[in-house]
Amino acid sequence: MRKPVVALVGRPNVGKSTLFNRLVGEPMAIVDDTPGTTRDRLFGEAEWVGREFDVIDTGGIDPASGRSDPLSIGSAEYVRQIREQAVLAVQEADAVLFLVDAQSGVTPADREVAEILRRSQKMVNGNLTPPIFLVVNKADSANLRMQAGEFYELGIGDPYTISAAHGTETGDLLDALVAALPTFEEDEDPDSIKIALVGKPNVGKSSLLNRLVGEERAIVSPIAGTTRDAVDTKIDYEGLPVTLIDTAGIRRRGHIEPGVEKYSVIRSMRAIERADVSLLMIDATTGITAQDAHIAGFIQEAWKSTVVLVNKWDLVEKDNYTMNQYTERIRQDLKFMPYVPILFISAKSGQRVDQVLPLAVKVQEERIARLSTSQINRILQAAQDNHAATSRSGRSLHIYYGTQVRSDPPTFMVFVNDPKLAHFTYIRYLENQFRKEYAFTGTPIRFVLKARR
Ligand code: GDP
Ligand code: GDP
Repeated sequence: MRKPVVALVGRPNVGKSTLFNRLVGEPMAIVDDTPGTTRDRLFGEAEWVGREFDVIDTGGIDPASGRSDPLSIGSAEYVRQIREQAVLAVQEADAVLFLVDAQSGVTPADREVAEILRRSQKMVNGNLTPPIFLVVNKADSANLRMQAGEFYELGIGDPYTISAAHGTETGDLLDALVAALPTFEEDEDPDSIKIALVGKPNVGKSSLLNRLVGEERAIVSPIAGTTRDAVDTKIDYEGLPVTLIDTAGIRRRGHIEPGVEKYSVIRSMRAIERADVSLLMIDATTGITAQDAHIAGFIQEAWKSTVVLVNKWDLVEKDNYTMNQYTERIRQDLKFMPYVPILFISAKSGQRVDQVLPLAVKVQEERIARLSTSQINRILQAAQDNHAATSRSGRSLHIYYGTQVRSDPPTFMVFVNDPKLAHFTYIRYLENQFRKEYAFTGTPIRFVLKARR
């Protein structure tokens, strides 16, 4: 079932990422030390009184390029970016938390954002959609909370005063938020393998989808949008039900600011979250861009599986080395996910398109595979025999035993003397030993270290 998406909007420095971290909680231990994934997270899962929702910090997204760099306040670029973030949020989120700063009062940038938010809402069944909550952050004192009335000026309704840094006063806000969130029908077929096509506009997603659907003539049903932002196509792949989640077909609803119809990060993330395996399409003529790498990072953060498809391979002038050179380059650009398989295709000519579904299905099969406890302990034992963990302040990590506590994604619980002694490089080494035994192609694997006394 799809979870509602809540977007955090507001000018820089109002506390969006602080609130994001409050809502989403701390990142998972140890495994998040992965080199190359030190980026701030922009997308995460939250829960309040049993309602789950996803949170996105639009402050980290430049809708035009997929990722923002620090901008100088007041520059044209700065203004463009916060405007586009606001538009993006209203068009694609199910609810918006609009943050302002109690300590600085109403600023011109707040007015600008408020104006865009109000203009972009739509009337749906008598309700303005999506609902927008005005969050007056940094209201650390009673005095500041009293002054919050000045924010009525923004025309967004009642201000909710909170202190994200101290975690206070967020209860009323969250109660109101979850009450306003839509619920989505349970419309997923649990037995179906869900494969998302993600990638920049024009990379060839629609062309590939048409090929895949055309090849598998037994189309069960092209069902129009389980969500409003993707079209699902159900096909039968050698007796396996497969749902292709396409992010290309649907253009954003409503008014689009010129130049904004770009890589929709939110749409991609939603598709990724619903999918088991994401086909990340790259344009062979441009190679991996920063946006592509960020999307890859999202897939990994969501603990989902990835296949990289280098499309438009027909346009590349090749000799015997070209494919290897491309592979090297991609491995370099995506070095935080060395486990990812890469396929060079042409959606246009059909070259190797027949390998796409078999590869995706293989990735899914490995994703749900289970290793036996004896197998795991053999790997752990051999790993330690070959290479003991180095000691830290005189103590070194000892591994006693391990077990696979879940699949999808594969998750191993490893009992040790003291988890704090585990350096991420050693976990990385263990991961490599596991992958030698069983590849888990395309899938991140997760280790949870537990102290055994
Ligand atoms: P963003 O740019 O909107 O994501 O803002 P940040 O979350 O990075 O916060 C900007 C600054 O405001 C940081 O120095 C935070 O520590 C601070 N901040 C965030 N929330 C609060 C709060 O509730 N009270 C106070 N006093 N400071 C806060
Ligand atoms: P989408 O925006 O990602 O859905 O991309 P489309 O499938 O609409 O393709 C964008 C353009 O690239 C179209 O003109 C396609 O014909 C072209 N295209 C797609 N795949 C290939 C390919 O493998 N080779 C070549 N030469 N062109 C392709």
